[in-house]
Amino acid sequence: MSVEKIDHIGIAVESIEKWIGFYKDVLGLEYDGSEEVVEQKVRVAFLKIGESRIELLEPTSDDSPIAKFLEKRGGGIHHIAVKVDDIDAALARHHEVGARLIDNEPRIGAHNMRIAFIHPKASGGVLLELCEEKS
Ligand code: ZN
Repeated sequence: MSVEKIDHIGIAVESIEKWIGFYKDVLGLEYDGSEEVVEQKVRVAFLKIGESRIELLEPTSDDSPIAKFLEKRGGGIHHIAVKVDDIDAALARHHEVGARLIDNEPRIGAHNMRIAFIHPKASGGVLLELCEEKS
């Protein structure tokens, strides 16, 4: 199993429409598409930043995890996504050492990637997302 790069940094916002202009027009990033991830009750928009991306996350319902995050902490960095070449092996490694996970099994996330979240308690306070390109 190898770790390839930071795939993206997830930033929670109350409205993509309200904030995307800053990232595109002021910071100067290239827009890389939007989609709704129904299962996670979020709409996401990606912006390219070199080899990585910024993922703006907007809740699509009041019981979305992002809605809860915004309520508690306001907008800001929500998670950091680490791209791996083998998410099953990465999760097995976490199980092996007893690292606390949010997802025991990979699920399908944005861009049709296989993803799994690691609990912030396991990583010193940062919500990490493992992701693997689906072949
Ligand atoms: Zn993400």
